[in-house]
Amino acid sequence: MRAAPDFPPEFNYVSYAQEVIFAPGSLARLSAAVERFGWQRLMLCTNRSMRVRGCAALIEAILGDRLVVVFDQVQPHIQDVQVVEALALAVEKAVEAIIGMGGGSPIGMAKAVASRMGETTSDHPGNAAITAAPPVIPVIAIPTTYAGSEMTAVYGITQTGEAPARKVIFSDPRIAPQLVIYDPELTLDLPPNMTAATGINALAHCIEALYSVRRHPVSTAAAISGVGHINNALLRCYTHGDDIEARTEMLLGAHLAGLSLASATMGLHHGLCHVLGGTANIPHGIANSIILPHAMRFNADATAYQMLPAAEALGVSANGLSPAEVIAAAAQRIFDLVGQMNLPQRLRDAGVKESDLPHLARLGFQNRSVQNNPRPITEAAQLERLLREAW
Ligand code: NAD
Repeated sequence: MRAAPDFPPEFNYVSYAQEVIFAPGSLARLSAAVERFGWQRLMLCTNRSMRVRGCAALIEAILGDRLVVVFDQVQPHIQDVQVVEALALAVEKAVEAIIGMGGGSPIGMAKAVASRMGETTSDHPGNAAITAAPPVIPVIAIPTTYAGSEMTAVYGITQTGEAPARKVIFSDPRIAPQLVIYDPELTLDLPPNMTAATGINALAHCIEALYSVRRHPVSTAAAISGVGHINNALLRCYTHGDDIEARTEMLLGAHLAGLSLASATMGLHHGLCHVLGGTANIPHGIANSIILPHAMRFNADATAYQMLPAAEALGVSANGLSPAEVIAAAAQRIFDLVGQMNLPQRLRDAGVKESDLPHLARLGFQNRSVQNNPRPITEAAQLERLLREAW
């Protein structure tokens, strides 16, 4: 039996005006695009390893005098103190557009600074209630991982003053990147562990978009197609990082995953991953790799039918199995893939202490994505049980 996509009887979603350039070698088109948009004073947000790898120098060479400031110290999970530092530089240099180059962290930093620049230069405070305001300080995203932040109007900031630190998610439609450049050549040296972890992050975007309470036909189509491309390419990218065809197909899968993520709310899985990142300091992709099979099993009773096309795209046979059994097999397939790529499969292997689980569950219970889960979560104990299974 072929799994039919599920179509909700009614839907409502917001999409953003974005120019997406996707091609091997497309970084060379940055200069022409910046010229076309008329941006004169640009800032680059990136991190130390991108600087060391020569990526920051590439942007400096392409943009010349138009690049007026570089902040190359972005830490994972974007710390509030760093946003203040980068914002001060952006204001001092009166930047007109901000480039985030790298993984989800530098792109998130570009969004955080752009959003706050907007607050200092316009009458519109950045908040989720504005749905149609034009971007104030445009963001340009040049992703080099599969995390998907380049397509969304969301970013997280870790509040370092709280004990323990906590990641807070902000949504501001004005900072959805206006220009996105996907150049698979920039991913050729993404290390195997980052390839694997951010690849599973992309897969998780597709799965959660499929069962999202805000899913719609476009997010569903993008998610199903995304799972197929990720399934074709991820392991090849892990074993042969220099395979440009596999890298191109994987980046396409990540783009489709990001597209589905951008307009369908996420659920339990993403909520827990943000808690594990902000509070237990687990890299986002690693948290995704551990939690995804458990979140799928947890949601199988309520959403097996929506996840069936993903199971099919993952190559799981439905013959003679109930929908819930098919999803259990798909979750096992992902658990095995995570192991094949030598990523941690349990929270204990990622440094989480068993005694931390009740607190993490309580924080998770307050998380907005967790509250948006299709199978209602009515008490923190449900999350604690899931975390114990994942531990
Ligand atoms: P990251 O941005 O923290 O990068 C991790 C490491 O990978 C860095 O050291 C970086 O230098 C290195 N790296 C990146 N690209 C490389 C390349 N091509 N070659 C070699 N090294 C490379 O990690 P991430 O997983 O991409 O992003 C995670 C962050 O993004 C988290 O904070 C997460 O919450 C956020 N995120 C946000 C969204 C959103 O929609 N807003 C979506 C996904 C993730």
